[in-house]
Amino acid sequence: MSQHLTTVAGVTVDTRHFIGGDRAASTETFTDVSPIDGRALGAIARATAKEAAAAVAAAEAAFPGWAATPPAERARLLRAVADGVEKRIEELALVETADNGALLRSHRRGVMPRVAHNFRFFADRLLKLGHAEFETRGHAQHVSWDPAGPCVLITPWNAPLMLATWKVAPALAAGDTVVLKPSEWSPLTASLLADIATAAGLPAGVLNVVQGYGSEIGSTLTSHPDVRRVSFTGSVPTARLIAASAASRLTPLSLELGGKSPLLVFADADLELAAELAVEQYDNAGQVCLAATRVLVEETAAEEFTRRFTEKAAGLVQGDPRDEATDIGPLIHPHQLEKVDGFVTRALDAGARAVIGGHRGHGLYYPPTLLTDVDQDSEIVQEEVFGPVLTLQTFTGEDEAVRLANGTRFGLAATVATGDHERARRVAARLVAGTVWTNCFFVRDLRAPFGGSRQSGVGREGGDWSFDFYCDLKTTVTAPNGWTDHG
Ligand code: NAD
Repeated sequence: MSQHLTTVAGVTVDTRHFIGGDRAASTETFTDVSPIDGRALGAIARATAKEAAAAVAAAEAAFPGWAATPPAERARLLRAVADGVEKRIEELALVETADNGALLRSHRRGVMPRVAHNFRFFADRLLKLGHAEFETRGHAQHVSWDPAGPCVLITPWNAPLMLATWKVAPALAAGDTVVLKPSEWSPLTASLLADIATAAGLPAGVLNVVQGYGSEIGSTLTSHPDVRRVSFTGSVPTARLIAASAASRLTPLSLELGGKSPLLVFADADLELAAELAVEQYDNAGQVCLAATRVLVEETAAEEFTRRFTEKAAGLVQGDPRDEATDIGPLIHPHQLEKVDGFVTRALDAGARAVIGGHRGHGLYYPPTLLTDVDQDSEIVQEEVFGPVLTLQTFTGEDEAVRLANGTRFGLAATVATGDHERARRVAARLVAGTVWTNCFFVRDLRAPFGGSRQSGVGREGGDWSFDFYCDLKTTVTAPNGWTDHG
């Protein structure tokens, strides 16, 4: 087997970049390690500024042809990519689980079908994109969504292919070309996507994938003069670096960042459902941007809620994410373990009490943890942990609930558990959050805008909002009979 190929869970993955329709190696590589058992999965190409610039050049060269491709043809190719993803769902699921340790059953049934749906959805949406027409004193006004140019898309490791394609699909649909930089902790499925795109007939240079460390090639990509959009999903500190870098050219940015979302449980809620919603926050070992990690419970229901929650949490199975019975897999990386453990240790030192968990487990498998006796201004309540760690605070009345819920620098999502629909509406209206769920969690629809308020993000993607970001909107005004009154 070529030194540039690795086999992961029986699937062959090319470890090189994908630039201008060809595979490209780097002199240096980095080792990709599975969080399941610490096994090395491959030596992945480690880009320098040279390869990063080559990828942008390929995207720039391919742009005029792709932008001029009729929407119906672009949509056909995106659907062919969706077909290719659907054919390889099992392989993609196996590789992604080996790479980032998230549950195989979720990858098979939820995540990878959604990856295909991302392409189909934006293909359909592109064909329905309205071209507004109206008249001003006899002058025809025409608004069009024009392709913007090469886009740099930088993505994290917690849902690698789903989050990457949530950007790739609308950018390609819009007529833009793409340089995708996946996380160095989960680089493999982006490489498989490149294979799928090639097999689907996507022209060379329309989709490029550069592997490597964001700290080493990020600024080459984000400050490049030919890049027209930068879309980033990741942490707030990295977003600041990217925003500063893109500022040199005023390149438009979309930022999908972290969160510290609340779950508000009112005493009138179905407490069984509320406890279920709280336990759901341990999904993906808590490595979910939207996770409602701050459980806020009305004082009078706190004891009963905690009893039900503890019972349910005791039933969670932690272990190998490839087993069907597993509910919680490992954290992604030893650095993430240190980070999570540091937050919990400091909280306990500051006087928090662990209702469950509160200590390391075996290897990267951190036990589900609930901490109580925490202050609103404490680190554990204010900072994103990105692990299976929840806090529990109590409140009295709606005003205090809303004050606590809104009392961080984030505003990604919120969940409200209540039996009173009027209350649900009232409270939702007062919450600072990109998405509010009532008596449910994680129900997503690609037609809805998605993003965060405050430091959880800048901009919204989803539906036509994605096209607003990935396109240059243009108004063309035509005078009657070619004459204008200069009005
Ligand atoms: P991260 O910020 O460490 O890295 C994300 C990506 O940025 C990686 O590809 C990394 O290589 C790259 N990067 C690092 N330094 C860079 C630089 N200077 N310039 C350009 N790129 C650079 O985030 P992470 O640890 O991979 O992901 C976890 C974070 O992502 C959490 O904060 C989580 O909440 C957030 N997240 C948000 C959403 C959302 O939709 N809002 C979804 C998933 C994850």
